[in-house]
Amino acid sequence: MNCETIDCLMKCQYLSFADIAEAREEKLKINDGKDSRVLEQCLTCYACQEYCPYDNNPFYLLVERQEEKGILPAPKPIIEEQLRMMAPKGRITKQAVSGPVVDMCAFPMLTGCVRGKLFEGASTIVGMDVFCNIMWLHFAKNSTIRQRVPQMIDNIMSFYLADSGTNELVCFHDECYGTYTSVADAYGVEVPFKPIHQFDYINQRLNDLADAVKPINAKIVYQRPCSNRLVPRTDQVLDEIFEKIRAQRVPRKYDRENALCCGGVPRAHQRDELADELVEKNIKDMLSVGATYCVFNCPFCMATLGQEVAEQGLMPILVSDLVQIALGE
Ligand code: SF4
Ligand code: SF4
Repeated sequence: MNCETIDCLMKCQYLSFADIAEAREEKLKINDGKDSRVLEQCLTCYACQEYCPYDNNPFYLLVERQEEKGILPAPKPIIEEQLRMMAPKGRITKQAVSGPVVDMCAFPMLTGCVRGKLFEGASTIVGMDVFCNIMWLHFAKNSTIRQRVPQMIDNIMSFYLADSGTNELVCFHDECYGTYTSVADAYGVEVPFKPIHQFDYINQRLNDLADAVKPINAKIVYQRPCSNRLVPRTDQVLDEIFEKIRAQRVPRKYDRENALCCGGVPRAHQRDELADELVEKNIKDMLSVGATYCVFNCPFCMATLGQEVAEQGLMPILVSDLVQIALGE
């Protein structure tokens, strides 16, 4: 009510407001449960979570209102299909793991990334029964988050961590870390283990492996994913990682607080024209700074943009794989 800047809406890259007064009017409508064009037009980029200087969770509230009012960001059949496809499968069995335990979420195809000196001795857990379920923020389904996340946490504990000798869970994807920190905190979900962000883990390992680092000495562009908006502290940790391996994160228009959606979510929402526009703007910006690598943290961003950037001469690569190169592997 007393906010002077209405940063959550004034900084939005996808909606525009004539002035702060108009943004305030729309924000108050959202707060009061009234109709607002923001609920219809939002790209679900998560960025307003980061823009709010008071940690007031504007995006989580926006999703809550979308669901209450049945304002769906994607066609209903798409959402229904996703809900079935991404549902827990109930096929989980107990597996002996030991630390570091790395949560690969719903990406079994990436478990091979957990290798070498960087992840020495690590175990991985993966599958739909440990899926973090944060993606429902893109589909106006807070109720699914509330329903499924406690079940996932219970699965992680009872099938893996309880007998593992560790209470720490390294989250390979910052969607998971965002779920078990920011979302859990805002939604009142108890998390009995200690989530560790992949960047914090890698940064610490690079301290231990400092003698093995062969500087990359290359320019990179970084595609910052939507879920990193929920945990902006970790973007500075990523800078520390790049510094340690001598990868120069070249400043560009669409990085950091001004990061642009990869286009994957509007594509999933069937907003193809918008998705095409975002991809074009982003890649043009990447190419303008003369980098060698396009670095991703989010596998979904990499699936969306990887081939496009490769065709333009940039090498698409995950953060962990770039670090593996610097470790000579
Ligand atoms: S989620 Fe993104 S598009 Fe939606 S209101 Fe927030 S900043 Fe704007
Ligand atoms: S959510 Fe944050 S930025 Fe938006 S009006 Fe409230 S205090 Fe201001």
